[in-house]
Amino acid sequence: MAKKFDPATAVQNVNQFGEFGGVNPSITDSATFTFLSEKTMIDAFHGEAEGCFLYSRHWNPSNKYLADALAAMEGTESAWVTASGMGAITTAILQLCDTGDHVVTSVTTYGGTFAFLKNYLKKFKIDVTFVNITDLESVRKALRPNTKVLYTETMTNPMLQISNLPELAKMTRNNGTKLVVDNTFTPMIFSPFKLGADIVVYSMTKFINGKNDCVAGAICASQEFINDISDVNTGTAMLLGPVLDPLRSSSILKNLGTLHIRMQKHSENAMYLAERFKEIDLKFIYPGMPEHPEYELMRELMNEDYGYGGMIAIDVETAEKAAPFMEVMQEKGVGYHAVSLGYFKTLFSNSGKSTSSEVPVDIQKEMGLSPGLVRFSVGLDNDIERTYEMIKSCLFELKYI
Ligand code: PLP
Repeated sequence: MAKKFDPATAVQNVNQFGEFGGVNPSITDSATFTFLSEKTMIDAFHGEAEGCFLYSRHWNPSNKYLADALAAMEGTESAWVTASGMGAITTAILQLCDTGDHVVTSVTTYGGTFAFLKNYLKKFKIDVTFVNITDLESVRKALRPNTKVLYTETMTNPMLQISNLPELAKMTRNNGTKLVVDNTFTPMIFSPFKLGADIVVYSMTKFINGKNDCVAGAICASQEFINDISDVNTGTAMLLGPVLDPLRSSSILKNLGTLHIRMQKHSENAMYLAERFKEIDLKFIYPGMPEHPEYELMRELMNEDYGYGGMIAIDVETAEKAAPFMEVMQEKGVGYHAVSLGYFKTLFSNSGKSTSSEVPVDIQKEMGLSPGLVRFSVGLDNDIERTYEMIKSCLFELKYI
C-alpha cells in the first residue's frame, strides 16, 4: 500500500546546511547581490540564471530555505514567503484576477480577508459572491464562466467549519477557476494541495511560527504560479513587494522543525477542553466532537497524527457576557485576552468584536456568528486540567453555569 503523505516527515527530509556546515542555514543579510559577469546579471533578471540571487525583494537565500521547507510540507513544487498572511492572500488573489473577473468565497473567513474581498476588490471591479462553503450546491450555483478564484479556509475563522476541498476542487477543475485555500488554522492537520487545492496560503504569524514575535505569510503552489508572482514585469509579489525579511525567515524555519509536536499538543489540549465542556453542557464549537456537523468530513480528510486542532469556541450568547468572562479569565491566568492564535499560551477574544468585526453585524447573524462567541487558541499548557478548572471557575463566578 502506498504510504500516505506525511507533512512532518516531508519537513524532516529537507536537508539544508549553512556554507560552513552549520546545521542551520546561514542568514543572508543582503538586499542585493553582486555578479562577476554582466551576462549572468541580465540572465538573473529574467529568471534564467539557476542558483543566482539578484535582489531580495525577488528572492533571498534565507527566504528560499524557508520556502523550500514549506513547499515540502505542503507537497507543492514551490513556495514564496511574505511579510504577513494578508500579503500572501492578497498577492495570490490579485495575481489570479483581472478587472471584470469574479471570485466566489466562503462568507466565513478571517475578517481582514473578508474586508479585502468585499471592499478592496471593488477598486478593480472584481465581483465577489459570498457563500456558505459547506453548502456545495450554493457554491456550484455561484460559479460563473469568469470566476477566477474559489476561496476558502480549510477550517474557517471563526466558525470552525470544515471545507470539503476534494468536492470544491472537482467544481473548479476544467473551468479556469483556481481553488485558493487558507490553511492557517490547521498546518499539518490538513494538506490542502494533496486534497485538490491549487494554491495554499498561510498566515505564518500563527501556528507555523508559534512564538507571536513576528507577522509573516506564505504562498505554496506550482513552480509556474510562483514564477508568475515573482515575474519582474507582471508579478504581484515582485511589483507590490510584500516580501518577508530574511532574518525572520531564518527564525521561522527553526520553529517549523517543532510544528508537528506543537500541533499535536495544541490539539490534545483543545480536545481535553471540548470533552470537559461537553460534560458541563456548555455551548461550544470544536470539530473534533461527533456533534460537529463536519466531524466525519474532517476525519476523512485530515492527516491523522495531528489531532483536530487547537481552536475551540465557547458561545456565551452576548458580547456583554463575553467581556467580563474574558477579563476574569485573564485575571485568573487562563491566558491572554488577545487576538491572533497559535501561541504557546492560550489566547482568547470575542470574534464578532475583534477578528470578525469587519463583517457587518447582519452578515455575522446570517452566518450564525453569535455575538457572544469567545474564540480560544488553546496553548501548550502542561496541566490542561488546571486550565479547565480555571475556565470553569470563571464561568461559575459569573453565574454562566
Ligand atoms: N488568515 C487567517 C485565518 C487569519 O486568522 C489571519 C489573521 O488573523 C490572517 C489570515 C491574516 O494574517 P496576518 O495577520 O499574518 O496578515
